[in-house]
Amino acid sequence: MWSFETEPEYQQKLDWVRAFVREKIEPIDCLFHQDQTYVVDNQSLRAIMKPLMAEVREQGLWACHLPKALGGSGYGQVPLALLNEILGRSWFAPTIFGTAAPDTGNSEILAHFGTEAQKQEYLQPLLDGDIVSCYAMTEPQGGGDPKQFTTRAVRQPDGSWRLSGRKWYASNARWAKFLIVFAITDPDVPVYQGASLFVIPAERAGVRILRNVGTTFDLPGTGSEGYIEFDGVPLTDADLLGKEGEAFRIAQFRLGGGRVHHAMRSVAQAGKAFDMMCERALSRFTQGSQLSEKQMVQEMIADAWMEIEQFRLFVLRTAWKIDKYNDYKRVKEDISAAKTLASRVVVNTVMKAMKIHGALGISNEMPFGDMLFRGFVMGTADGPDAVHKVVIAKQILRQYQPSNDLFPTEHLVKGVGAAMDRYAAELALPGDKSPWIDYVKQLRAEGHANAL
Ligand SMILES: Cc1cc2nc3c(=O)[nH]c(=O)nc-3n(C[C@H](O)[C@H](O)[C@H](O)COP(=O)(O)OP(=O)(O)OC[C@H]3O[C@@H](n4cnc5c(N)ncnc54)[C@H](O)[C@@H]3O)c2cc1C
Repeated sequence: MWSFETEPEYQQKLDWVRAFVREKIEPIDCLFHQDQTYVVDNQSLRAIMKPLMAEVREQGLWACHLPKALGGSGYGQVPLALLNEILGRSWFAPTIFGTAAPDTGNSEILAHFGTEAQKQEYLQPLLDGDIVSCYAMTEPQGGGDPKQFTTRAVRQPDGSWRLSGRKWYASNARWAKFLIVFAITDPDVPVYQGASLFVIPAERAGVRILRNVGTTFDLPGTGSEGYIEFDGVPLTDADLLGKEGEAFRIAQFRLGGGRVHHAMRSVAQAGKAFDMMCERALSRFTQGSQLSEKQMVQEMIADAWMEIEQFRLFVLRTAWKIDKYNDYKRVKEDISAAKTLASRVVVNTVMKAMKIHGALGISNEMPFGDMLFRGFVMGTADGPDAVHKVVIAKQILRQYQPSNDLFPTEHLVKGVGAAMDRYAAELALPGDKSPWIDYVKQLRAEGHANAL
């Protein structure tokens, strides 16, 4: 059964969200730097956000990424995709709806794998929007490759642990109440079994943020990517998230969700750039006609529309598959593809929109530079595109077998020969036939039965 329709009841909610985001949330983007999303003690911003968060709860749309039993609204991934493709228009909307990265992924794994005590201490305030969290996995020497990780938690004679090592690009570490840290706990087995996750309060002794790094547009010394040192941080088994040795499994679970949510929000970013492009094309008159009447502008609009629509449908199908299989591993290649496309489609669309706005598009009075850069960043954060393409190719190739001889299966001589054998009786009857038949007959007569 195929359907491209949204249930009328949920559509009403989406209509409400669309108006709510445009009228009440997008204006916040003009008033505060995006980083402030994570600063829970910004009183001015919180005074604006809190009542909006309450409205979202009243609508039953809070923390839609989580099932009801785990504290969310529990609509599933397809409704979440439809929601996120609106929320992604604004930097602040995901926070106001309780679905902002990286807290979504962190709340998801806390909800699924956390102990009751961890849920009480961290998950509830996280879901209430009262604290923010940090996920510290990537290391300076080997990037996101877990096989290069050296951050170690070493079991002590009394059964406790000591954590030592360095992480970098840990988003929001400076504002986080707690960190989820990926550490090697058994170096003698492959990392897939020898690493564990720990949930650590940010103020625990031995946790030190060495510095905070920004991205291209941040002033030196500012930014939200933490370089963190763990210097003999004392831990107990109560700090483990999930079981010892389960880090990889849990991390994949977290990243699966996080990546597809990024893709869902990217549909909105690309859509916003597209709206701006169309408005400008219809508004600007130069060189004898409206921009919208110039064929190269029309081509940009048509190409952008086709690319966004394909991407959107792909993201929705990925969401549908996650709902269907309830197993991120079974949709690995879809998630990697959605994440890779997210960066590409946002960058491509924003570049076209920027171009159509001419000098104005390049100016700092339009938001394109930021949108473009964020789209580009998406191609690195949560795993570089190159690595995701490797995943896609490996998964896809598993569905294929090599040809069993020198020539590919679709080699015409082989194919014609096989078809001739299958339909030999019918071919003996009169009627026009392909010249390939005589050719293959001749090859066979000459002894080239295997098409050589
Ligand atoms: C804005 C931002 C936020 C982030 N937030 C977090 C966070 O909260 N927590 C966290 O743990 N990490 C975070 N990261 C880190 C992120 O996960 C890593 O940047 C990512 O995994 C890539 O690692 P790397 O930067 O060391 O790049 P490298 O691994 O050094 O890769 C560099 C380049 O090499 C090429 N390359 C790499 N591998 C391959 C391959 N297998 N085949 C072909 N080419 C390849 C690609 O072109 C790639 O872009 C964040 C990064 C960014 C940019």
